[in-house]
Amino acid sequence: YRVDFIPLEKIPVWSPSGDPSCKPRYKVNEELNRKISLFSGDITKLEIDAIANAANKTLLGGGGVDGAIHRGAGPLLRKECGTLNGCETGEAKITGAYGLPAKHVIHTVGPIVHDSVGEREEQALRNCYYTCLHTATKNHLRTVAIPCISTGVYGYPPDQAVEVALRTVREYLEQNHEKLDRVIFCVFLKSDKELYETMLPAYFPRG
Ligand code: ADP
Repeated sequence: YRVDFIPLEKIPVWSPSGDPSCKPRYKVNEELNRKISLFSGDITKLEIDAIANAANKTLLGGGGVDGAIHRGAGPLLRKECGTLNGCETGEAKITGAYGLPAKHVIHTVGPIVHDSVGEREEQALRNCYYTCLHTATKNHLRTVAIPCISTGVYGYPPDQAVEVALRTVREYLEQNHEKLDRVIFCVFLKSDKELYETMLPAYFPRG
């Protein structure tokens, strides 16, 4: 047991603070609301079934959250990733988590945004969130954390990415709520925390 590992019990279910400034886009569903968390901090500390990694196509490690995950997991993660033949944009591959407190890492590759977001990039980001959740449920994993995929060096505008993330998770949970206990949006930047706090009431409105 390491003191800086954060078990599910320490990750509160999302509860809104302040007046919602966004109009609801979905119906109130308290059962789904109870499956959502907003966690602000380092995803590598989470002691849950699976954490998603915003990887690159080689799966051999990189900067940002990918670097943090590989540093925490240790060299055996890179070794396993080396057997996977990389990963295409919008797809995902699952591995062990080795030195990390999570049980598995689900590596997904987000789209790179060069100029502005088009249909292609949006669909790819949507696929990332969908396939992370689908990979988790296929493997009977019930608690999953996902970082802000593509919004770092891959350049996806965070204010557009949050909508894709929330919409995709909402729609996945509507179809598959019995397969998951918790989906944790893991934000690392204060600006992302604020974006999620603003937008969550639109996608997971309270009664
Ligand atoms: P991408 O290449 O997909 O853009 P990045 O790792 O550059 O991936 O950024 C994705 C997001 O991950 C950014 O919001 C960044 O702030 C965040 N991030 C960086 N380190 C961590 C970490 N240890 N835990 C969670 N999120 C992180």
